[in-house]
Amino acid sequence: MSKFLDDRFQSLEEYVPGEQPKDTVYTKLNTNESPYPPGPATIKAVCGQKGAEDLRLYSDPDSTALKDAIAKRYEVKRQNVFVSNGSDDILNFAFMAFAQNGAVFPEISYGFYEVFAALHHVKYEKIPLIQGFNINPENYWHKNKLIVIANPNAPTGRTISQKSISDIAMSNPESVVLIDEAYIDFGGSTAAAQTKIYKNLLVVQTFSKSRSLAGARLGFAIGSRELIGDLEKIKYSTNPYNVNRITAAAGVAALSEDDYYQANCKKIMRTREQTVVALEKLGFEVIHSMANFIFVRSEDIDGEELYEKLKEKKILIRHFDNPAIKQYNRITIGTPEEMEILLAAVGELMSAADSGEE
Ligand SMILES: *Cc1c(COP(=O)(O)O)cnc(C)c1O
Repeated sequence: MSKFLDDRFQSLEEYVPGEQPKDTVYTKLNTNESPYPPGPATIKAVCGQKGAEDLRLYSDPDSTALKDAIAKRYEVKRQNVFVSNGSDDILNFAFMAFAQNGAVFPEISYGFYEVFAALHHVKYEKIPLIQGFNINPENYWHKNKLIVIANPNAPTGRTISQKSISDIAMSNPESVVLIDEAYIDFGGSTAAAQTKIYKNLLVVQTFSKSRSLAGARLGFAIGSRELIGDLEKIKYSTNPYNVNRITAAAGVAALSEDDYYQANCKKIMRTREQTVVALEKLGFEVIHSMANFIFVRSEDIDGEELYEKLKEKKILIRHFDNPAIKQYNRITIGTPEEMEILLAAVGELMSAADSGEE
């Protein structure tokens, strides 16, 4: 750190993203990317001559075509849609804009919430999960602070019901309730329709996971005209061209071939269930997940050791240092072939652990 850095940031602990190794020898199951490529229409939108030539022009600051495509897909109006450079951008804006009275989020959740809170000097409360890594919705009633809940939650994959979401929105009329639906397409149900009833409810989604566009950086929010207007105000005060031309075109194309992505999600869900069964056979405890990852632990091998040993075998999974979950690892669901590679490696490690103990 230099002496030039503002005192306000001297003690900021930044978010540490999952490893993105430069070589491709790894079976990469650590950052919840899709194992499947974007669909043909999306690829065409990204690679076309015209799109490339148009890069000399700024992108549409209103992102009209993209917002219209999202609005149509989620049955809302354009005025109810906000788009951004990845959904992390929206989370950042929300902590910047809506946390005047503080923020509340689950103790075990997406690590970035705490970083955004610290960045914007927001006082925050972390609410412990209950039995089985579940969220108790009542713990979020009557807070009247910015409430941020990932549904499904990360890294646990646990969901909360639509009723729980409406109860939370209803009991916090003076504050924003943000539901981060990064993993909603893997078996959950979106609260998008409820934003028509609750003006304080903001649903945030991303094209990074279920639509194979992590590298394009495209996130969006659905909410009341008022909340979307607030986000637009921040956006126009930060970077009016926050969604670039190629990404906007990719987003429109991706929504035109939504069936392709929904089919991929189904494949991933099937692979997830097969992987759960296989890991349970190997003695693992697996949290029931509605996301494109599973959260696992074994009594027979230390969490960090499993991570290290798999890395030696060129398989990357995600390990967190947080003491409450350090015996666990989060494993992204890849293709069936990738999961075979994982299961073979885990099988070898477990039999080695067995013989070592006796
Ligand atoms: C991956 C993820 C995001 C960020 O997604 P981007 O759109 O790639 O910025 C947000 N929230 C959760 C819970 C995530 O896992």
